[in-house]
Amino acid sequence: MKSITIVGGGPVGCLLAVLLAKRGYGVHVVERRPDMRAANISAGRSINLALSDRGLRALELAGIADDVRKIAIPMRGRMMHDVHGVQTYAPYGVGDQAINSVSRGELNKSLLTLAEDHGVMISFEQRCVDINLAAPSATFERDQSGVRTTIASDLLIAADGAYSAVRGRMQYLDRFNYSQSYLQHGYKELHIPAAANGEFRIEKHALHIWPRHSYMMIALPNLDGSFTCTLFFAHEGSPSFAELTTREAVAAFFNEQFLDAVAMMPTIVDDFFTNPESSLMTVKCYPWVSNNVALIGDAAHAIVPFYGQGMNCGFEDCRVLIECLDDANDDWTTALARYQELRKPNGDAIADLAIANFFEMRDKVADPVFALRKKIESYLYATYPDRWIPLYTLVTFSHVPYATALRMGQENDAWMDRMMTIPNIAEEWQTEGGKAALEAIVRERAPHGIDPSLIVTR
Ligand SMILES: Cc1cc2nc3c(=O)[nH]c(=O)nc-3n(C[C@H](O)[C@H](O)[C@H](O)COP(=O)(O)OP(=O)(O)OC[C@H]3O[C@@H](n4cnc5c(N)ncnc54)[C@H](O)[C@@H]3O)c2cc1C
Repeated sequence: MKSITIVGGGPVGCLLAVLLAKRGYGVHVVERRPDMRAANISAGRSINLALSDRGLRALELAGIADDVRKIAIPMRGRMMHDVHGVQTYAPYGVGDQAINSVSRGELNKSLLTLAEDHGVMISFEQRCVDINLAAPSATFERDQSGVRTTIASDLLIAADGAYSAVRGRMQYLDRFNYSQSYLQHGYKELHIPAAANGEFRIEKHALHIWPRHSYMMIALPNLDGSFTCTLFFAHEGSPSFAELTTREAVAAFFNEQFLDAVAMMPTIVDDFFTNPESSLMTVKCYPWVSNNVALIGDAAHAIVPFYGQGMNCGFEDCRVLIECLDDANDDWTTALARYQELRKPNGDAIADLAIANFFEMRDKVADPVFALRKKIESYLYATYPDRWIPLYTLVTFSHVPYATALRMGQENDAWMDRMMTIPNIAEEWQTEGGKAALEAIVRERAPHGIDPSLIVTR
């Protein structure tokens, strides 16, 4: 069996290692950081993550989905907080459809252990500094000593994240396309601790959003009763991180904009100055494969976090790669060619959807017309599921390719624009006449033809 080196022991690298080891390959994961199970280090930029069905399906393949569900908190909808602290709830889906808040560190640790249980060799504190794409081989440097080791293998897979060293080397290839763009907004993580009795201070089973048009704060629950908050805010301009330079300015800003949250954030000012201001970028590139070297996860497609899909997309990459190996009887040349052909359009689609969702979350969720469109959309989905599936459902609760979701979402928007022209739609849509008018339009639309088994319902 072929030997495989995976650069990067983040969630995607570890999951892929498990899946390939289960197939009988000899897998070696080489990770830059110390072993997070031993060292008390941060497991990355985002403390908790929304894990959704695409990610869970790949974890099921690895046999770890049920264990992960035990450390996850289902979030069934979004809870909007206005400037006066008034909360409005909107479900994400129907029934028990939910996204799951999970500690990124705990998930990564579980995957590291599972990989070792399956015979994967993992080396830590070895930073990839060079690649020989033709061999293939990778050269790693020990952080402390600077000692370099070169590892040759039959295949080299880069799961080394958004700033991938392997991708950096691929950029020197002829006809390698690459684009990187930063949002003008960055983010800072903040904290709502548990109440004195260990209880959650706000609804546990929701993703909380404080939409403020040009910026927003969100909060996801943790198992210990706390919430990890993330403020998405412009780096510069007004208002922006650049403006909030004094304790007084920070306190005044939060008191004015997030009054109900501030009451639950006793260390807000200290946290604001202690925690880093981080940036958000999108990376698109192609090809993802060169000889026996391939990119996966954020190394292939770094996206902004507003659809909660970065890791889910990376996990789906792993599942699709394994299916390509199945189809090609483990002929790697055929499988890798098919993998990049299938995944590249979907990586691009979720990158674009994630940026669009930023504007939806910060600007539109508080808008009554947007809320009306969402209510009508839920009605249409419940009544005409063969003709209407909401975009959020397609992205989050389905295994429909992201590119198909993007296209159907654009079509939904156009049909909904027409429905909004029905006279007095806000008042009429729940009456018999209003429903008949909606039906007349929706019946003009051809059935979408999506296999219902691709939509996850519980
Ligand atoms: C604020 C924020 C919120 C997010 N929320 C969500 C969410 O809710 N849901 C979701 O699905 N996704 C979310 N994401 C995205 C998610 O974090 C990433 O998509 C995911 O971590 C990608 O996994 P990965 O294994 O490909 O890369 P990474 O997690 O970046 O892991 C890469 C690994 O490679 C190692 N490495 C890097 N360089 C080298 C090198 N030169 N040599 C050796 N090792 C190296 C790193 O140390 C790391 O362990 C969020 C991201 C951010 C920034």
